[in-house]
Amino acid sequence: MARVNIPTFTMNDGNKIPALGYGTWLGMDEKEDAGPSKPFSFEFSAAGMPKMMEALSYAIDIGYRHIDTAHLYRVEPEVGKIIDKKIKDGVVKREDLFVTTKVWHHFHREADVEVSVRGSLRRLNLDYVDLVLMHWPMSISQDGVDEKIDYLETWRGFETVLKKGLAKSIGVSNFNVEQMKRLLANCKVPPSTNQVEVGKELVDYCQANNVLIVAYSPFGTMVPSRSAPNSPEPKLNNPTMVAIGKKYGKSVTQVTLRYLFQRGIVSIPKTVTPSRVVENASIFDFELDKDDMATLAKFDNGFRTVRPFFWQDYQNYPFEKIPDKMEIPESLRIWKNGLNLDID
Ligand code: NDP
Repeated sequence: MARVNIPTFTMNDGNKIPALGYGTWLGMDEKEDAGPSKPFSFEFSAAGMPKMMEALSYAIDIGYRHIDTAHLYRVEPEVGKIIDKKIKDGVVKREDLFVTTKVWHHFHREADVEVSVRGSLRRLNLDYVDLVLMHWPMSISQDGVDEKIDYLETWRGFETVLKKGLAKSIGVSNFNVEQMKRLLANCKVPPSTNQVEVGKELVDYCQANNVLIVAYSPFGTMVPSRSAPNSPEPKLNNPTMVAIGKKYGKSVTQVTLRYLFQRGIVSIPKTVTPSRVVENASIFDFELDKDDMATLAKFDNGFRTVRPFFWQDYQNYPFEKIPDKMEIPESLRIWKNGLNLDID
């Protein structure tokens, strides 16, 4: 069996985080038959679940130790089952694993953070998570009401969860530079991480302030599932990327993940394909030279693959607004109609 050896980075609280993790967001499918009043809707992708469970199991077998999940993803029970099995089978001990989950928009009142984390722990069947993140800075009820809860209040709930030992580290996700500045200036415990789609200004700011960056959607629009017709280069067949890959005997996706690693950034690529599970983690046996790092940096174009503009009028939406309008998909708002009905 293949084996991968994934190094760690150290966060500002002294805890170590594996530099590459397994992402568990299966995405959403657009449904076009949602009824006469709705031209389309988005539902959680269920089809990939069995494959994901197999791929995650395989990932742990070959040496992955970091798993990225979230209350939102509706997969915590399944992720928990795989972890449980791997521990029972003697493949890993709990302390070998690094499990991240996230608190959703409905749980932004200070006291609700603990409620959310305890729910995640129950679904994951764990006593603690290694890292818990505020998934987004906005606070929105299931009815779509803007609750306008200050993320500084929510953060106090995170500090409590840390104190109670329910999480070993606490962090944020999708915070922009201004929000990071305000949080860092007004917290007792600084966030260990900011999980984002990488962009230079935000990465530079967080790194200068000792906040580790975790890169979600690390392939950007490179991969077919994310490459809308008008999305910018690079794609998997980009000649510059292909040439750099050839030079090191690596694929374009491996070059991408290595580029992030050399910048001190953790990546959490998602794949349900076993060969890619190996490929994505086989990046620690070569080094991109300075010129190639500079060439790759030029592809930083600020394009967002994750742009949930249906939240853009809510307080603390972190990204630039665009002219488009769309209602929040029901499946992202109302909790009990997701893929997994056990999720509360
Ligand atoms: P990724 O950049 O990981 O892309 C996933 C896609 O890339 C899938 O279609 C996968 O296909 C394909 N892929 C994976 N590896 C390869 C490879 N080596 N070669 C070619 N194609 C490949 O995007 P995600 O949006 O899934 O982000 C990763 C993770 O980040 C999520 O799973 C989630 O855990 C987290 N996330 C967090 C967010 C947040 O708000 N905090 C937002 C979005 C994601 P296949 O599976 O078919 O192999």
